[in-house]
Amino acid sequence: MTISQSPEQIKKPTLRVIPLGGLHEIGKNTCVFEYGDDLMLVDAGLAFPSDGMHGVNVVLPDTSYLQENQRRIRGMIVTHGHEDHIGGIPHHLKNFTIPVIYGPRLAMSMLEGKMEEAGVTDRTVIKTVNPRETVQVGQHFKVEFIRNTHSIADSFSLAITTPVGVIIFTGDFKFDHTPVDGEYFDIQRIAHYGERGVLCLFSDSTNAELPGFTSPERAVFPNLARHIGQAKHRVILTTFASSTHRVAMILELALKYGRKVGLLGRSMLNVISKARELGYIRCPDDLFVPIKQIRDLPDRETLLLMTGSQGEPLAALSRISRGEHPQVQVKPTDTIIFSASPIPGNTISVVHTIDRLMILGAKVIYGKGEGIHVSGHGSQEDEKLMLALARPKYFVPVHGEHRMLVAHAKTAHSMGVPPDHTLIIDNGDIVELTCDSIRKGDTVKSGIELLDASRNGIVDSRVLKERQQLAQDGIVTVLAVISMDGHITAPPRINLRGVVTTADHYKMTSWAEKEIIWILDNRWKQLTRNIEGKVPEVDWVGVQREIEVAIQRRLRRELQVEPLIICLVQPAPIGTPEYKGSVQSETDNRIAVRNRIARDTSTKESTRSREVVRLNVPPTDDIITTSSTTSIPAKVGTDLEFEIPVGRTRRRRSAALS
Ligand SMILES: [Zn+2]
Ligand SMILES: [Zn+2]
Repeated sequence: MTISQSPEQIKKPTLRVIPLGGLHEIGKNTCVFEYGDDLMLVDAGLAFPSDGMHGVNVVLPDTSYLQENQRRIRGMIVTHGHEDHIGGIPHHLKNFTIPVIYGPRLAMSMLEGKMEEAGVTDRTVIKTVNPRETVQVGQHFKVEFIRNTHSIADSFSLAITTPVGVIIFTGDFKFDHTPVDGEYFDIQRIAHYGERGVLCLFSDSTNAELPGFTSPERAVFPNLARHIGQAKHRVILTTFASSTHRVAMILELALKYGRKVGLLGRSMLNVISKARELGYIRCPDDLFVPIKQIRDLPDRETLLLMTGSQGEPLAALSRISRGEHPQVQVKPTDTIIFSASPIPGNTISVVHTIDRLMILGAKVIYGKGEGIHVSGHGSQEDEKLMLALARPKYFVPVHGEHRMLVAHAKTAHSMGVPPDHTLIIDNGDIVELTCDSIRKGDTVKSGIELLDASRNGIVDSRVLKERQQLAQDGIVTVLAVISMDGHITAPPRINLRGVVTTADHYKMTSWAEKEIIWILDNRWKQLTRNIEGKVPEVDWVGVQREIEVAIQRRLRRELQVEPLIICLVQPAPIGTPEYKGSVQSETDNRIAVRNRIARDTSTKESTRSREVVRLNVPPTDDIITTSSTTSIPAKVGTDLEFEIPVGRTRRRRSAALS
């Protein structure tokens, strides 16, 4: 929705707000504020891969816009320490400079750990802030940090004063009037800005579809207490490591019921040590016992707190459920508590983990009915309270999937924000705000960047597509020997891995052969350059691509499969005798192929008696590959031995290409 603009209005001083992540999704929240020559970032998170993103560890927003404009970046504001708000920063620092990052103590301490790991500590300056502290970013932004309540301690909403007016950026929040750490939502401050006039509210939409208020964090305490109190043997408990309030309550209960705590999972150890260091979690040192020693204590005196509440394959509880953990095995007497609900997308792995734990005989407590988890995000009534306090002129729902944004906009309309004062935007959209207008402007480049397990390597769209093809339909390699004057000198050799097909090997070979011959008959001229008196120049990479595409098309048509095709071409010198193809010598070749299949599956002894032809290839010629991401390192020697049907050539032992 846009508001029509007169040319005079367009010239007015304009604030541009550009979300690069976090919209139409939950995760990788990254937002850009721009005025004049100043550019300020608010949060830079990551998201976790969805199904089909094989080998992808984390998902980040495309930051080409920031890289192009890095000269204008004046600083960054962090609202709180969740991965979907700070997880992208260490990687971004490798690509562009952020002069200064302001944020709460806990988030900054977690970020420093991540930056150390990534080796980028020298790329920025970290500054911690206190509630109600105001920082100046560039010439045009004044940012006040307003304490809010959320599932992690030390979380903030922001009041951003800009030349066109005040923006309230809620960050993640719910209204929790009995916070576990006693740090209350600074509602007065939001009301203060509301009283003076807020131009636009950008508000968390995660639970916009849920009616009512979100329960306070304390609501889970009696239920956790009951389950831990009633357990006669060992208690195993899992939650998000970053849910510091939940962790604090669990530790309090362990102390109350005389149980020593063993911690498992890197992030659990990390966050607890940071939160204790900064005083967000208080408990005696001797509450904790190293996992190796806790086994010596009676079960009824122990509680294991670990990662794995989302069924992540490598997390502690998932490994325990598979019997793969070196230190902890499930006992039928265990009580296992899931104090978290699965993030959409993780449901299947979570239920499988629960199943495995139950099969091992443990008592597993999970699910909404148990009252052992509450969300850290406000529901409709929390969102209404925020709208009522801020009383914004314009409203933009953020931090949510599309339907959540729509629901949140409806809530705003029900509170008197006119529909044409509300914008539903996507990543990369530019929100243009003047003192009396809001509109959706152009877009900037947005998208995703996928990192592999090392968090350094980028999995680009081509690699991802190849992995998906490999996983779904397998791989076909085709080896073709083609002479410099454009004919095949041996039958193509086909290898299948992971391909389910009704076609036999002979049929596959004959399809490949037909496609190669067709390309050589029809496309050879375009793929070569003849220079008078010289050996023709052949675009071998082009030849391979054409063969790959043709075979791909053929397999899609004939078998309805789309495996990854890799074609390797071995060039042969001019004058190498032409192989006429199975089309011309059907009977002979079929026998030959059958013989070859039989030989392929037989013992080493019989491999020795393969029929091969030795091709004379100049020493500099390599086998050329196109689809493979890495080239084949082994150089093919002067003589390349290659299999062809029985009876065509002299006998030799197969070597290079078996
Ligand atoms: Zn959060
Ligand atoms: Zn968030």
